[in-house]
Amino acid sequence: MCGIVGYIGPKDIDSVLLVGLQRLEYRGYDSAGITTICNGELGIRKKVGKLRVLDASLRDEPLKGNLGIGHTRWATHGEPTEANAHPHLDCQGKLAVVHNGIIENYASLKEKLIEEGHIFQSDTDTEVLSHLIEKYKAKGDGLKDAVLKTLKEVKGAYALGVISEDEPDKLIAARCGSPLIIGLGKGENIIASDAAAILNHTRQVVYLEEGQLGVITRKQVVIYDLEGQAVEIKPQTIKWDAEEIEKSGYEHFMLKEINEQPGMFKNIIRKRVANGSIELEEMGLDNEQFLKVSRIIIQACGTSWHAGLIAKYILEQYVHLHTEVDHSSEFRYRNPVVDGETLVMAITQSGETADTLAGIREAKSKFLKIFSVCNVVDSSIARESDAVIYTMAGTEIGVASTKAYTAHLAALYLFAIYLGRLKWIINDQEYKQMLDQFKKIPRLMEQMLSNNKVILECAQEYYQADNFLFLGRGLNYPSALEGALKLKEISYIHATGYPAGEMKHGPIALIDSKMPVVCIAPKGEVYEKMFSNIREVKSRQGKVIAVATEGDKEIAKHADQVIYIPEIDEIFSPILVALPLQLLAYHIAVLR
Ligand code: GLU
Repeated sequence: MCGIVGYIGPKDIDSVLLVGLQRLEYRGYDSAGITTICNGELGIRKKVGKLRVLDASLRDEPLKGNLGIGHTRWATHGEPTEANAHPHLDCQGKLAVVHNGIIENYASLKEKLIEEGHIFQSDTDTEVLSHLIEKYKAKGDGLKDAVLKTLKEVKGAYALGVISEDEPDKLIAARCGSPLIIGLGKGENIIASDAAAILNHTRQVVYLEEGQLGVITRKQVVIYDLEGQAVEIKPQTIKWDAEEIEKSGYEHFMLKEINEQPGMFKNIIRKRVANGSIELEEMGLDNEQFLKVSRIIIQACGTSWHAGLIAKYILEQYVHLHTEVDHSSEFRYRNPVVDGETLVMAITQSGETADTLAGIREAKSKFLKIFSVCNVVDSSIARESDAVIYTMAGTEIGVASTKAYTAHLAALYLFAIYLGRLKWIINDQEYKQMLDQFKKIPRLMEQMLSNNKVILECAQEYYQADNFLFLGRGLNYPSALEGALKLKEISYIHATGYPAGEMKHGPIALIDSKMPVVCIAPKGEVYEKMFSNIREVKSRQGKVIAVATEGDKEIAKHADQVIYIPEIDEIFSPILVALPLQLLAYHIAVLR
C-alpha cells in the first residue's frame, strides 16, 4: 500500500503535496518523494525514511510550480532506497509517475524495454510505466494517449499520477485495483489515494472507477474509459470532517483509535438499537432474501478475517447457518462449490482491499448475492455489493486496525441477532437480554480504558521478548489470532495465535521461561479448559498473562499477570477482549 497525491493550481505546491502525503502516511512510510514542474522544467526530490526527512530537505530547498505529484511508499518491489522511491522518471527525465499497486508483468516488460534501449534507475515494478509512456510519446502520442496505450500493456493493480514537461498544464490520473479520488476545486484540482488528503481543499469529489483515466487541468476534469471514450462525471460531496483525522492530543493514531471505541459503540447503539430493536434498514436485501440463504461464505483479509471467524461462531449458534470463512486471497483463486442459496460476505474496513474485491467479483461471476460489512461509505466493495452494513467506525488512519475490528464485530453481532430473531431461533426474552448486554459495551470499554496500568506493566515486563504465544478457545480463539497479529504487525515480535486445545500438538515444545503466553480465559463454557492450559504453560515455566473476568481471584494464583475485563455474557467477550490486546501491542511497540 502506498499513498499518492497530485495537484494542479495556484497554491504553494510543495506544501500542498506534503500536507497531502502526511494524511496518507498511514499507507506507507519507508520513503517518499515529490516532482513538480516549474517554468517548464521538472524538479524532483526523494528521501528514504519518514516524510519528515523529505519535509526537512524541502525546507532547505523548496520545489516550486503549479503542477506536481507526490508519493509515500511501502515497498513491494525493490528495497526502500532513494532510487526506488517514487516518482519514477523516463530516460530523459521529462515525465514522472507515482504508482500505488503492483505491475505483475513488469519483468517481461522491463526486459523488452531494456532491449529497446531504455535505461532503468530502480528495481521497482513501477518504472516500466514511465518508460512505456516515454516510448509511446516518442512515437507521437500525446500524454493521455501514451498513458492509455501503456495501461493496455500492463497487468496488475494500479492507481497512477503522471505529469510531463511537454504538457505542463495537465495531470493524468488512472485507476485499476487501487483507490484514487479526484477533488474538484475552484481553479485547482487535486488527486489522492484517500479523501483525507483532499478535504482541506474541497469537499466535492469524483471517485475514479476501475479502468478509468482522468485528464485534469486547473479548470477541468475529463474522465475516459480505457478505450479513450469520455464518460460522465458523477461528483459527490464528502460529509465527514477533517478533524476526525487529527490525532486530538494522542501521541499516535493507534492510541487515539483504541480510545475512540466506547464513543464509536455509543454511536452504533444510537443508530442501530435505540428503539429496542435492531435497525439495519440501509442493508438493501429484504428479509425474504435473507431467509432463503442456506450457507454463508465469508471472505476477508487480516483483521477482518478474524472478525469473520467470530461471525462463524455466532451465525452457527444463533442463526443455525452453515458458515465458512476463507482468506480472500485464497477464495478468489479457488473454485468453491456453491448454489443459488449461498451468500458471499465480504468484510473490509476500506472497501478497497484488492483480494476481497476480486473475491466478490469472482462470486458475482457465479451469480451469487454479495453482502458486505464495510467501513468506508461508497467504497468499491460497498458499491459492488447487493447489500451492505456500514460499520460506522469513522476514519481509521492507524495501519494496525483497532476500532474497525470492534466495529466489524458490532455489525456482525447485530446482523446475526437480527437474523436469529427473524428465524425465531432467538426468542423475545433472549433478544431483549442480548440487546441489553450489547448496550452495556461502551460503559464497560470506558471502564477498561481508564484503568489500564497493568497492561503497561505487562508491556514493560515483556517488551524485549523474541516470541509471544496467544491462546484462546471457542469465540476467543480468533481473539488470540488477532492479539498475535496486532503484536507482530507493530512491534515486530514474532507472535503466534493458537486454539488452546491444539497447544499439546506441537507448540508446547516452544514453551520455556522466556516465552510469554497470553491466555484468554474469561468466564464461560471453555473456562475450565483454558485453566488446564494455563497449568500446562506454568508447568513448563512459561510466563502467563491471563485475560480474565473481573473478580476471578483463582486465576491470579496461577498467572504471572492478570488483565481483567468486566463481566459480560460470554458471546460478547471477544469485543471486550480486543481492547487490552490492542493496548498491549501498542505499549510494547512504543517501548521498542
Ligand atoms: N509496487 C510499487 C513499489 O514497490 C508500489 C508499492 C505499493 O503501492 O504498495 O514501489
